[in-house]
Amino acid sequence: MKYVALIIVGTLCLASGFLTPLKYDSKVLSSLSLRRSSVNVPFCTSLKSATLPPPSSSKVKVSPSKSTDKSQDFVFGLSDDLVREKGRKTLVLEGDDLTTKPYQIILVWGTFLVQFLLSLSSLSTISSSHPLLSLPLTLTTLLLTYALSDLGSGIFHWSVDNYGNGSTPILGNIIAAFQGHHTAPWTITERGFENNVHKLCYPFGVALPLLSYLLGLRGIGLLSLTTFCFFEIMSQELHKWTHQTPKDTSSVINWLQKYNFVLSRRSHNKHHTMPFSGNYCIVNGWNNGWLDRSGFFRRLEKMVWEWKGVESNSWKLDGELKERTLRGEFRQEV
Ligand SMILES: [Zn+2]
Ligand SMILES: [Zn+2]
Repeated sequence: MKYVALIIVGTLCLASGFLTPLKYDSKVLSSLSLRRSSVNVPFCTSLKSATLPPPSSSKVKVSPSKSTDKSQDFVFGLSDDLVREKGRKTLVLEGDDLTTKPYQIILVWGTFLVQFLLSLSSLSTISSSHPLLSLPLTLTTLLLTYALSDLGSGIFHWSVDNYGNGSTPILGNIIAAFQGHHTAPWTITERGFENNVHKLCYPFGVALPLLSYLLGLRGIGLLSLTTFCFFEIMSQELHKWTHQTPKDTSSVINWLQKYNFVLSRRSHNKHHTMPFSGNYCIVNGWNNGWLDRSGFFRRLEKMVWEWKGVESNSWKLDGELKERTLRGEFRQEV
């Protein structure tokens, strides 16, 4: 079975013909109509880094009046800062497309099939090596991995929001998509499932299971890794649900969000405030509180700065944040 899995993964990797980095379309972006957030920094867009404020680049048009009808302009449940004009479909990235393509369907469901087979293999190993404890071991592994995948989504999200751009090798178009999402968050609601999650199948659907095979992971280790990768891919769909209205999502999803079994609208709404410096976790949001309170990401940013001399995009948007971080004031109110 391992050989079959390897063949499927390899075929998927080849068939999908790795993504070419998407380029930022300044014409499209300059046509956007956004309200600025409350933070007093210039709001502009560039997919060299979508959240950066170069001094004299084209700025996003600021809408002069405030909408009073949320049912018409709703884009993000709780936010007054980002509002989509009714009926507007805006693509941020040149070459981006909201239509689901056959290769995306094959890539996503092929990935899930491989993960399912790997999970079956790991369950079989667990039940044969721990016959009496297999159920509690499996449930504990799944729960812990679900929590861990939230942490992983936060670290991944932080890294692609803050470093690199659309031209970065391998992850370039994922970086462009994450950074562009701050500019036009509504586009995620207009994507079909496979279109929405397929980009994450490259790092989490292809590379990691392949690595686990090469490392010879089995049993609990393999179950953890496949579950982790599954939720990293699904994080984009869980994320999408937070941008949809409760009317657009099923009652089950609304219930899961209400009791924080999955990422809630309230939790993710906090991320969409300049300078996009917190609430990065997008699986269930369980880790957002302690990560932001402890200044976890500020510490990482300071380390990157000292190591490579590279500023995070959050620092570029908020000079005070940079100064506080460099002074060692990491903690952030949540
Ligand atoms: Zn973000
Ligand atoms: Zn979002």
